[in-house]
Amino acid sequence: MALNCTGARPPCGECRSCRLVMHQSHPDVTVTQADEVGGVLRIDRLRELQRVLALRPYEASYRVAILGRFHEANLATQNAILKTLEEPSPHAVLVLTSEYPEILLPTISSRCLVLNLRTLSLEDTYQTLWQRYGEADEAHLSLVARLSSGRLGWAIRVLEDPSQLDLRNTALDILARVLQTSSRVARFHQVSELAGDKTLLLTYLDYWLAYWRDVLLLTSASQAPIVNVDREPELLALTHRIDYSAAFHALQATRRTIAYLNRNANTRLAMEVLTVDYP
Ligand SMILES: [Zn+2]
Repeated sequence: MALNCTGARPPCGECRSCRLVMHQSHPDVTVTQADEVGGVLRIDRLRELQRVLALRPYEASYRVAILGRFHEANLATQNAILKTLEEPSPHAVLVLTSEYPEILLPTISSRCLVLNLRTLSLEDTYQTLWQRYGEADEAHLSLVARLSSGRLGWAIRVLEDPSQLDLRNTALDILARVLQTSSRVARFHQVSELAGDKTLLLTYLDYWLAYWRDVLLLTSASQAPIVNVDREPELLALTHRIDYSAAFHALQATRRTIAYLNRNANTRLAMEVLTVDYP
């Protein structure tokens, strides 16, 4: 919006250009990503984009290409974009977004200006939610604000559709059952049914990641608040039997598994390895 804004203070959010971008109908702004979360961004999509980027802008100053969830680009796609990143046409701007920048080819990261987008503070999240859903139960708003870890979009989705919260509860219940047993067979059994739906599995793993981050905080001297406040007794019980390094190991193993799954590793195998890595 800022690049193509014609208002006095870009991005003004009011000029024709800004409004077209907001409605995702600007002729010079293209969003390209895999068809589904956890899918693969294939090279033919990139070829199509490169053809468009070579053209002069239709009406704005820049042609802007936003490549969403770029960690879902396969190796061929990642290699193909290198040339565009090296010699972009003067009117083209590429924006690559990724939650897992560490799994991109280093040759890509080194050709980009890296901007780390931070999430909102707890206070800001709560205030924004309160302005929008002031009539809702205060304790519930506070819980959702905390669970969102500053991701406002997630918090709004949960308040609009409570089944999202059920998803998170299911994810943490499965994890609790995995941690309750030390039998490999029993652990494999707990995760065996998850392998069928990778998109759902990646959602679950995100919640597991947040859970391990909490365990890590509780086993360290950190004063930072935990996210899963409603699970505090369970988290505290866990810290009685595992220490900081075990929590760190579990967190890293979870991160690694998410990266493997995004690279299309064998889902069942990746999950089995993960449960063996858990304390
Ligand atoms: Zn504008």
